[in-house]
Amino acid sequence: MTKIAADPSHPRYQSLLLRHRLEEAEKKGMLAGSALIAHGRGEAFDYLLGEQTIPSAMNATQHALSLLQSARRPVISLNGNAVALAGKELLQLAHKLNCAVEVNIFYRTPERMESLLNHLTEINQQESLAVEVLGANPDARIPGLEGPRASCTRSGIYDADVILVPLEDGDRCEALVAMGKTVVVIDLNPLSRTAQTASVTIVDELTRVVTNMIFLLESSEKTTPTDSYDNQEIVRQSLDHILTFFG
Ligand code: ATP
Ligand code: MG
Repeated sequence: MTKIAADPSHPRYQSLLLRHRLEEAEKKGMLAGSALIAHGRGEAFDYLLGEQTIPSAMNATQHALSLLQSARRPVISLNGNAVALAGKELLQLAHKLNCAVEVNIFYRTPERMESLLNHLTEINQQESLAVEVLGANPDARIPGLEGPRASCTRSGIYDADVILVPLEDGDRCEALVAMGKTVVVIDLNPLSRTAQTASVTIVDELTRVVTNMIFLLESSEKTTPTDSYDNQEIVRQSLDHILTFFG
């Protein structure tokens, strides 16, 4: 593995580290051509948030966790960027939640699927985890979507009641909501269709969210979801934060 130029004291260390992870994943064939563009858009919004977990995002994270913990069939959907940026931590989270992960990518090719599935299997071995990794053999389709991006696994995404989808596309998010699922998304852009249509929108950076979720699972009691959660209000608060942060 190549070394990162900067040391941890570098002011942009965290950002450089994430970019480095994407570069390495790119070399392994795990990413789509547009992966770095998507990341760049995320970085721009993260600047506007002050590169921190804002209070409304923490509220959404807590609510998402309570939904995942009380779900009948929770699942975590993974795309290339999610695996590249936080593959290990996402498997640790799945282990703690006792749920499967499913590789479900927008630009599906056999090579990318194989690279992502192999990488996750390696992490399972290295970390002594036994998280079920789905996606190799799709046997169901998400209604309302065309082409390979509709493919999914019946015992995973198709039958799940609560689904955590970091970095989802707007179309697919809408289609999953239309299936009646509770869809939790992580998206730094509060204006994206994904952020606007999800059941729970965490406007925060993926690696921070996963760290927060693992911390909450380890440090606090299991909580039950409250009826008073208002996602529109949560998204509005993140926009307010952006508008006032530099004001
Ligand atoms: P949509 O399809 O929801 O309308 P989009 O097509 O504009 O959104 P995509 O290019 O599909 O967006 O996906 C990139 C999204 O992922 C962007 O909204 C970006 O802000 C977000 N994103 C990228 N990297 C991260 C990250 N590390 N953490 C959280 N969100 C991220
Ligand atoms: Mg999109």
